[in-house]
Amino acid sequence: MQFWHFLQQNNTLALMLFAFIGLIVGSFLNLVIYRTPLIIMQQWRIDSIQFLQSQPDIPASLTTPINNIISNNERLSLFKSLSHCAKCRHQISWYENIPLISWIALKGRCSYCHQDISRRYPLVELATALLSAMVIYQMGVQVLTLFTLIFVWCLIVLAGIDFETRYLPDKLTYPLAGIGLAINSQGLLVSPAQSILGLIIGYLSLWIVAQLFYLIFKKQGMAEGDFKLLAALGAWLGVLMLPLIILLSSLLGSVIGIMLLFKNKESRSFAFGPYLAIAGILVLLYGSTTMQWYLNLSLY
Ligand SMILES: [Zn+2]
Repeated sequence: MQFWHFLQQNNTLALMLFAFIGLIVGSFLNLVIYRTPLIIMQQWRIDSIQFLQSQPDIPASLTTPINNIISNNERLSLFKSLSHCAKCRHQISWYENIPLISWIALKGRCSYCHQDISRRYPLVELATALLSAMVIYQMGVQVLTLFTLIFVWCLIVLAGIDFETRYLPDKLTYPLAGIGLAINSQGLLVSPAQSILGLIIGYLSLWIVAQLFYLIFKKQGMAEGDFKLLAALGAWLGVLMLPLIILLSSLLGSVIGIMLLFKNKESRSFAFGPYLAIAGILVLLYGSTTMQWYLNLSLY
């Protein structure tokens, strides 16, 4: 407790400490971004085979060989196995796993197969460090800040997974929404009513946009994961912040999306999740200041 009080009095020290914690957490978030989709996919495969096996009209001779492939493969988990190179499976030692420093020392290449290590690794570590420090700077050292850090870290993971796989797992969006409702049931960020309305209207607003998009263009624009993510942001930040989140994420999406399109040329389907996540973090940090500025403007 004494250390906690000491931190509350020493802003610079708190900033440096949380930036450092952010670097280490960022390294773990990279692991979560990489492994979560693999774990979910493995579970889908197991579920599908179990479903097929339960169907009387499908002969066992068809499903048994696939069953063997799955049971021979190790069950993936977040914590069980050590990190390895995504390309050659070389096991990464502790000194190759120091956040940021290892990537720079290795010049972004695996020490074993010399293939490029994705730039996502140092970027996620750096972003987590910077954003953690920004949360401390804006909110100071208090219990609510710890919850807020979880919110930011969770959004970094969701942005990373959606960017790589075009998929936002329920396993992450549901708990995120749940924690938002729980902390706001005590009115910690916004009132309970604002939080519940934020959840409902967050989901519905993107759902309606997606239905209209489908009616006009006859193809799917946004997916269900996006509705759930905006619902979670609504549960955390309240219904009044939804317009700002939607405005910011659409702006970011158009600018960065067009830049990426020019860079990559190939037409990849568009992930909206990362822009929602960035908008969510910005609104958490600067939303009320922006709203205040806007309301002051409209008074004149
Ligand atoms: Zn390698």
